[in-house]
Amino acid sequence: MSVARFVDERGLKAFVDALAGSRRVIAPVAKRGRFSFEEVSSADELRLDYDVTILPPKKVFFPPAQPIVRFSEGEVESCTCGIDTVLLGVHFYDVKAIDQLDYLMRENNADWDYLCQREATTIIASNIQTVSPRAFWDSVGTHVDPQGHDAFLTRIATGYVYEPRTPKGEALLEHGPFREATAEETAEARQVNESVMGTCPERLGYTTEEIAERVRDAYGNEKLWDELAERCFSCGSCNTVCPTCYCFDVLDSWNLDQKSGTRTRYWDACLTREFAAVTGAGGSRENFRERHSSRFRHRFMRKTTYLNEKLGGPACVGCGRCSQACTADIADPVRVITTIMERTS
Ligand code: SF4
Ligand code: SF4
Repeated sequence: MSVARFVDERGLKAFVDALAGSRRVIAPVAKRGRFSFEEVSSADELRLDYDVTILPPKKVFFPPAQPIVRFSEGEVESCTCGIDTVLLGVHFYDVKAIDQLDYLMRENNADWDYLCQREATTIIASNIQTVSPRAFWDSVGTHVDPQGHDAFLTRIATGYVYEPRTPKGEALLEHGPFREATAEETAEARQVNESVMGTCPERLGYTTEEIAERVRDAYGNEKLWDELAERCFSCGSCNTVCPTCYCFDVLDSWNLDQKSGTRTRYWDACLTREFAAVTGAGGSRENFRERHSSRFRHRFMRKTTYLNEKLGGPACVGCGRCSQACTADIADPVRVITTIMERTS
């Protein structure tokens, strides 16, 4: 097992500056009063005290708009290539979401447009120093441990404890003035991470299994879903900010020569009206989820029920981004699930 290391505040800055001088480093920074994962050139930009970022770190491997191939007459050239990257400061709930995407993108036909950048990235997770106002990560999928990180960084009173989890995490140590952590420092890091559990402002009071069963049973309760989705604008913001959503659309854009162009994939959102619309023979149209309540229900079935067996837990990690992003304030999984549980008991 890898040995935990310690670095003080100044040493951490030197570490991050050295990393940024040798490869791409993406980390949380302040952005218009909130936080965002962005490329940093200096440790001074870092905000490891962030609560939650506007968009999840999945955007590093699965960008909102990703060119996948360029084509010219009969020639097709892939745009996919992995850039050596350190993704620093990922909270554990977002690591759990990345674990889900890793599984889904490797399943069946491997998605190399995702996996190339995923494999070129070293993830340093970090402890939660500030809890976001709509978070509930300490009461959802609590039996699921975060896996896909290469090191874990915890802020303690005197500095930081860095725990390598993989050889990639271990290899970064040469960039900073680390020393072996003492037993007291390691114990303090453990206590810091334990003490944040139970501090979320929102809470799910039911197990994953209870929720999955009852939400599925409520599928046919149209009156309830109409009521829950009544104020939905079908804007798709709740999908866009979600770390576990992975639907995309693919569009070809043609250059002026009408012979060449680019195929790009874009994040898609199942709450939008057009998501499930298809064109049939003779130009006929069909929309499999025409009503906004059907789309709203679909999202909750996906988050609480449909994928549980495959993923080993719910497809919601409790980040609270959807609750914050929803203008109508109806997307909050805690409120929706609690209403379903109370109304159908
Ligand atoms: S639930 Fe809220 S965020 Fe989601 S589509 Fe409806 S209005 Fe938009
Ligand atoms: S459904 Fe909402 S709370 Fe759950 S992971 Fe997605 S954005 Fe976060």
